[in-house]
Amino acid sequence: MGDGVIGSVPDSVPEVTLPGVVDRHVHLGLVDRALLADGRVTEVHDLGWDPREVAAWAADPPSGTRVRYAGPFHTAPRGYPTGRSWAPDAAVRHVATPREAAEAVADVVAAGGFAVKVALHAGMPLLPDDVLAALVSAARSAGVPVLVHAEGDGQAQRAIDVGADTLVHVPWTEVLPDEVITRAARMTWISTLGIHDAPGNSAGLERALDNARRFVAAGGRLVYGTDMGNGPTPVGVNEREIEFLGEAGLEGEALRRAVLGPPSAPALAAPLPLPETATDLIAWLRASRRLPRSPR
Ligand SMILES: [Zn+2]
Repeated sequence: MGDGVIGSVPDSVPEVTLPGVVDRHVHLGLVDRALLADGRVTEVHDLGWDPREVAAWAADPPSGTRVRYAGPFHTAPRGYPTGRSWAPDAAVRHVATPREAAEAVADVVAAGGFAVKVALHAGMPLLPDDVLAALVSAARSAGVPVLVHAEGDGQAQRAIDVGADTLVHVPWTEVLPDEVITRAARMTWISTLGIHDAPGNSAGLERALDNARRFVAAGGRLVYGTDMGNGPTPVGVNEREIEFLGEAGLEGEALRRAVLGPPSAPALAAPLPLPETATDLIAWLRASRRLPRSPR
């Protein structure tokens, strides 16, 4: 029947390809890493662990997953997270002086870390300003970013004003004044909004969303990160986190860039249009499959 064969082919939606999900805040030591194999999350950034252990996981990662790591938390002697049950001793590097700061940064680079993780956690001993500044200055000289866990009054502002590159959580313990948000707009903030989404405890989430919306409106770069391993987080795509990015004001290309890897590395395909909203992106990811990996 000649051309009629076309009519027997069902209408098919063209497949769209996109990069995989990059989770910029995880703790692989606190989850079942094997669950990440060949999933929709194609890259994870471990932001706090024993550098030797996490380097071994990065060298032999779950199939189809790239692991990057910061190594230990840099903190004041007895500072956060010293003594926390989930934190092995080797995941915490105590830094008491500017000289020790320079040595600690050199050790991060030598261990293959992509960033220097710093903890500023009120209610426990805090890094003094000169040691904090020395960490930032040594990291800048070494060409690695400084990623700060800031918790409690004034700590996010200290990180912002000392020139840290990234906050690993959107600030949730206080509402930042507009002028501080404006100064922060040069930074990257990692979302981790889902960890505050606990019943009966909406105040932290509301403060974080308030800060996140104004940060995005001011031109700051908000990116997807879940703090995987902190509480009962899914080992894979955290759809709630994507919803919160939408609530913070991300859509279209900004949303895709916040959640996914670089466009040069397509890893997923789905028979759905390019996702524009958080709801679209969640549906798109659910419908997606991994593309066969091209040999490098
Ligand atoms: Zn964390």
